Amino acid sequence: MRLLEERIKKDGQVLGEDVLKVDNFLNHQVDPELMAAMGEEFKRLFEGAPITKILTVESSGIAPAVFAGLAFHVPVVFARKHKSLTLQDNMYSATVYSYTKKVNNHISISKKFLNENDRVLVIDDFLANGQAVEGLLEIIDQAGAQLEGIGIVIEKTFQKGRELLDQRGIHVESLARIAAFEQGEVVFLDENNEN
Ligand code: 5GP
Repeated sequence: MRLLEERIKKDGQVLGEDVLKVDNFLNHQVDPELMAAMGEEFKRLFEGAPITKILTVESSGIAPAVFAGLAFHVPVVFARKHKSLTLQDNMYSATVYSYTKKVNNHISISKKFLNENDRVLVIDDFLANGQAVEGLLEIIDQAGAQLEGIGIVIEKTFQKGRELLDQRGIHVESLARIAAFEQGEVVFLDENNEN
């Protein structure tokens, strides 16, 4: 998605080897017009899928997920994060290792908001090693719901998440695909292909 790639080039900051900071438009300050365009793009990419619910994880997934929900006219549910795992009868839950914070988070969703009739589109801000998405897939399984696909705002193709999901035959669409960070600059996958 060109608009997003341009914004990443303009405002994204590469931190260390493999982290991109995008707090100017996605992770802290949020650009609603860009989010709305991304919601429409997810709708186009998953056109025809009988989606009944969008699922994400707090907090950075919520903005893109809500705009996807608006485009699909379906509710959006975000998993909540907890420090400790206290299993509760009325919740589905999973453990997720946080890539950026290097800690385990426990995520959960109330059974009220997901069930076996749901056809789910998972949305998240980043795909790195795939842990966050795996946690959501575990919760979808617990609910007996059906996964329709995964929509990612920014995928880092040099980390292993995408490969793991492809191996499972899951329909994954990413709005921007980063192939590498070179001297602090972002290189997109399509730029690489053109060279
Ligand atoms: P994964 O679970 O796929 O390894 O990482 C996904 C989660 O880690 C995302 O939900 C996001 O919050 C965070 N994350 C991973 N890589 C980055 C990054 O390069 N920049 C930012 N801001 N967050 C990231």
